[in-house]
Amino acid sequence: MNKLETAGVAASICLLVAVSAQASDKAAMMGWEHPAVATEKPAPKPAPAHKVMAPEHHAVVPVPQPHSAAAAPKATMKAHHAMMPKNKAHTITGHHSIHWSYRGIGAPQYWGDLKEEYRLCKEGQSQSPIDISAATVTSLPGIQVAYQETALDILNNGHAIQINYAPGSSITVAGKSYALLQFHFHSPSEHTVGGKAHDMVAHLVHKAADGQLAVIGILIDGGAAADNPVISKLWQSFPVNAGDRRQPVGVTVNVADLLPADLNYFNYSGSLTTPPCSEGVNWFLLSAPVQISNAQLEQFRASIFNDARPVQAVNGRTVRLGN
Ligand SMILES: [Zn+2]
Repeated sequence: MNKLETAGVAASICLLVAVSAQASDKAAMMGWEHPAVATEKPAPKPAPAHKVMAPEHHAVVPVPQPHSAAAAPKATMKAHHAMMPKNKAHTITGHHSIHWSYRGIGAPQYWGDLKEEYRLCKEGQSQSPIDISAATVTSLPGIQVAYQETALDILNNGHAIQINYAPGSSITVAGKSYALLQFHFHSPSEHTVGGKAHDMVAHLVHKAADGQLAVIGILIDGGAAADNPVISKLWQSFPVNAGDRRQPVGVTVNVADLLPADLNYFNYSGSLTTPPCSEGVNWFLLSAPVQISNAQLEQFRASIFNDARPVQAVNGRTVRLGN
């Protein structure tokens, strides 16, 4: 099993747990890794998304590795068990691991303790997101975009709304090509600029032949008078619940239509913003935000509220901005 396949399986496990949590109410769904949720009985039926997940697209990202009780430091496990109703977590997951999330005992400040594979989340020195408060203005190579239309494949992975992309779309920067794998949304924007968060962000996740990841960040704000047409198309198939996946027949989307006209960007070396927080990610945060309507923003937030990792230490890294 190669690395991608392994990650894909992990993602599937992740989804299975998430879907089980759907059996409880909506508030519980948002915090399904919480002990209070763990007391619910598991959903009897298997998760449909578990069967149809495409590992090669889902894998790239910020998906956790397969659960392993042995991976977590003993002290951490003990602490977690002390907070957890006896054996109840096993009802759903069948193992000891705490699932990462954005609140409660799986919240970002604990990610680095949840598993050995996540240690970079607390020990890494080149983590993302960051606050971009100063940038070196310089001449940077343009991003050459070659995105194609793709059949819409949208899912709620329990952490974000993600759109898988068929092979054949890519960017080229300074002669290096990165294939587009998927894009997904966070709210608020994770990266901040001058201390200010934007309402949302789209992360377009790419991978080069040598394995390096490159992420284009599109900052998004509400307040537009009209609906954004790309977001409209996506939200018409909005996967409301964790584990939902929609592939409406005949609907295609091109993420190029979501890009701002100005592709000037902030560039620095960072990490995935979700476990395992792997470093060496080439970040291209576009400096020009795009706008969507408040109704579109609210539709997202009604389902996915606050799936943003807090900003991390810059640790002397240089952020460059094209002139
Ligand atoms: Zn992201």
